[in-house]
Amino acid sequence: MSYSQIEELKSRIVEIQQKIDRAARNGGRSGKDVTLIAVSKTVDISQAQAAFDLGIHDFGENRTQELKSKQQAIPQANWHMIGRLQTNKVKDIVGKAVLIHSLDSWHLAQEINKRAQNLNIEMPVLLQVNISGETQKAGVDPADVRGFLDSVGELTALRVKGFMTMASLSSAGEESRPVFAELAALRDKFKEKSFSQVELKYLSMGMSQDYEVAVEEGANMVRIGSAIFT
Ligand SMILES: *Cc1c(COP(=O)(O)O)cnc(C)c1O
Repeated sequence: MSYSQIEELKSRIVEIQQKIDRAARNGGRSGKDVTLIAVSKTVDISQAQAAFDLGIHDFGENRTQELKSKQQAIPQANWHMIGRLQTNKVKDIVGKAVLIHSLDSWHLAQEINKRAQNLNIEMPVLLQVNISGETQKAGVDPADVRGFLDSVGELTALRVKGFMTMASLSSAGEESRPVFAELAALRDKFKEKSFSQVELKYLSMGMSQDYEVAVEEGANMVRIGSAIFT
């Protein structure tokens, strides 16, 4: 990347961090509590490396092969799997991704557990919840969340660390607020209950179009692609 491209990348990152700070303060928190995950799915390793050098340490990918090769190139970064995960690709991700945001079925949970057991590791995951109710979207139905959390203890290598959601594709900014508020309410509802291997610490919500609203509503992980890399 050229010097001016790096300067532009830097100013976009700084601006986003300022907006996250402001939104966190609006919600009575600090921007330090929010992890900015740079979604690098559209860029090559040199651009991800440039972002890393500017202080971004968390990256999101939605395809297993991309995650694997970028993780190999920049192993010091934390690589998050944010896209739909097919069961036959689980072996490529477990042990590579620090967190899988897109756990959306019991079958997938079983496969992740099996692989993690084979590697003798614990695998942190977020349960993806389909709040917006769009049928083409992945995620478990909010009504099924309790049953899922009740049963997670059977899958001994799995650790549920919170929830993830995607707002409707067509919505931006304020339109996403009810979806984010609902996921935060779901987290609050289950937070104090004790389910084994469940600690509802993270809310992964908000993308380029609506991350400020998400942070105001309690997101502590935002997944931002186009606003960083354009
Ligand atoms: C691509 C993607 C993002 C980032 O979207 P932008 O609009 O580019 O910020 C976030 N989350 C998921 C699951 C994605 O696939």
